[in-house]
Amino acid sequence: MSKKKNDKKKEKKLWLSLISVLILLILLVGLTVFYIKDKNKEEEKTLAYTDLIKELSYGNIEKVEMTVGSTTVKVKQKNVEEEKNAIVPNTESFIGLVQEKVTEGNEIELVQKPRSVLAQIPSFIISFLPTLIMLALFIMIFKMQGLGEKGKVYDDTERKTKIKFDDVAGLDEEKEELVEIVEFLKKPEKFTKMGAKIPKGVLLYGKPGTGKTLIAKAIAGEADVPFISMSGSEFIEMFAGLGASRVRKLFEKARKLAPCIVFIDEIDAIGARRTSNSGAETENNQTLNQLLVEMDGFSSEETIIVLAATNRPEMLDKALLRPGRFDRQVTIPTPDLKGRLEILKIHAKDKRVSQNVNLESIAEDTAGFTGAELANILNEAAIIATKNGHEDIENDDIEEAVKKVTVGIEKRTRVYSEKDKKLTAYHEAGHAVVSRYLPTQTDVKEVSIIPRGVAGGYTMYKSDEDKYYISKTEMQEKLIGLLGGRAAEKLVLDDISTGASNDIEVATKIARDMVTKYGMSDTLGPIDFQGKEPYEMQMFGEDIGDKIGQEVKMLIDTAYNDAQLLLQQHRDKLDRIAETLLQKEKINEQDFKKFFEE
Ligand code: ADP
Ligand code: MG
Ligand code: ZN
Repeated sequence: MSKKKNDKKKEKKLWLSLISVLILLILLVGLTVFYIKDKNKEEEKTLAYTDLIKELSYGNIEKVEMTVGSTTVKVKQKNVEEEKNAIVPNTESFIGLVQEKVTEGNEIELVQKPRSVLAQIPSFIISFLPTLIMLALFIMIFKMQGLGEKGKVYDDTERKTKIKFDDVAGLDEEKEELVEIVEFLKKPEKFTKMGAKIPKGVLLYGKPGTGKTLIAKAIAGEADVPFISMSGSEFIEMFAGLGASRVRKLFEKARKLAPCIVFIDEIDAIGARRTSNSGAETENNQTLNQLLVEMDGFSSEETIIVLAATNRPEMLDKALLRPGRFDRQVTIPTPDLKGRLEILKIHAKDKRVSQNVNLESIAEDTAGFTGAELANILNEAAIIATKNGHEDIENDDIEEAVKKVTVGIEKRTRVYSEKDKKLTAYHEAGHAVVSRYLPTQTDVKEVSIIPRGVAGGYTMYKSDEDKYYISKTEMQEKLIGLLGGRAAEKLVLDDISTGASNDIEVATKIARDMVTKYGMSDTLGPIDFQGKEPYEMQMFGEDIGDKIGQEVKMLIDTAYNDAQLLLQQHRDKLDRIAETLLQKEKINEQDFKKFFEE
């Protein structure tokens, strides 16, 4: 063939493939739009678990409908027409929660339906349809492009991540611990020759957003091996028996790709303690058993390392932690000051951050924030800066972003009555004044009665320096501060409102931890009562539950009383600050200090 002819043929081929790609693209866009529309609708109809819990505690749930063996529940919210779906990680504890609310006097109708397999099939197929169509399309594209010649749908190298340890800020010691895993994956012979057994599983413990997924990917990236991942909650949404078979498939794939990393996120969803034999539990058991079988099954020559992440280690079945399974555990902490600064630096790199911005002071102001929250703050700041028409991200953009991430968006347009306004003003002034007189509590940074997120108003405190230990006095004073809002309502308006529900929730949790976790009750002593099975509790006496309850109540009562006393003593300050709030809606740190200067 002459060169010219060849070129022509090539050109023709090019045109043909271009047109076909174009047609497919149009189809794909159309379908995606369709899919997204549908998905949005779907999202409107679902309620996140955390929101469900919130709604439950606010008494906003009228009806809960559950099907035995399914983790999807239907809920009806008050004032919301349509029923919504929610996925609950543990149906039994969820039922417990609902019943608890019912005994507290909430009107909730709890319907438990027997499992009907027929009813599940259509929804299953429907939920997979879009995925199937997309998959078919992808295969078609690959085929047409001649990429799918050997019947291979995916390319192994695509599963490799480019993330490296350098992309993970802070966590130096944890990285050091995990470098070993990288070595294992790179040169397994080196270790097996020495007679060393290569670890099979590593559990990463840590709050959501601390970088567990990121570090798992970085291990795969450093070792240059494929990263196969799946989330525990994906298993439990499945049909009976499907969870187990998905685990089997996952490991089949892993064997083909070894050496590789298998990452199981939210492992607590399948690895929760095996307790009863009912419904969803049995289903999870099968999945968990399969996981154990797989982990015991592969030999150390196969060099598959299973990384799993959870934020609830206490929930895990002990069988998972036995030797040869997840016998290594690495805790991923929330970042300290240095860690936060490094995380901010990494995420500031690809953004236009002004020279005036002092990342160090932001790191100081964000004690307790996770990596994900910090990344989110910088991203929000970029959006806010754009909206404000700034050239670069400025300090006030970041400050606004911090508030948006912590308390939600400012809702200046929300209408609320004068009465509500007054209540909010006194509630927030109550928090602020009380904390001002508590030596262990940090300074007030801002008090506001402009609604943000779900809060009607808020009191922000200066962030604590990083601390390893919190003293009993500090916790007691924290309780007083938290109850300052409710105390002010009671003192001034002689009535109380639902506005304090979140404060009460937090305070109760702290008080309970003080008694059951930190051994801070004088009568009960330094004993860990948390997460114990009923039989384990019995050794402390039949009425131990009552005693714990009494101690928790005493802590709360004392704190509430102290809050009221402080407010009575400083009533003048309370009134003046509340009035200022009613006029100006917001008081900043400097102005707040002025109230206490004379
Ligand atoms: P987890 O799996 O623990 O819930 P992720 O690994 O998914 O948390 O973290 C979410 C995001 O937060 C990451 O993609 C990254 O942008 C950011 N992030 C979290 N921790 C770090 C860190 N140590 N360094 C850099 N970025 C981090
Ligand atoms: Mg994750
Ligand atoms: Zn409050």
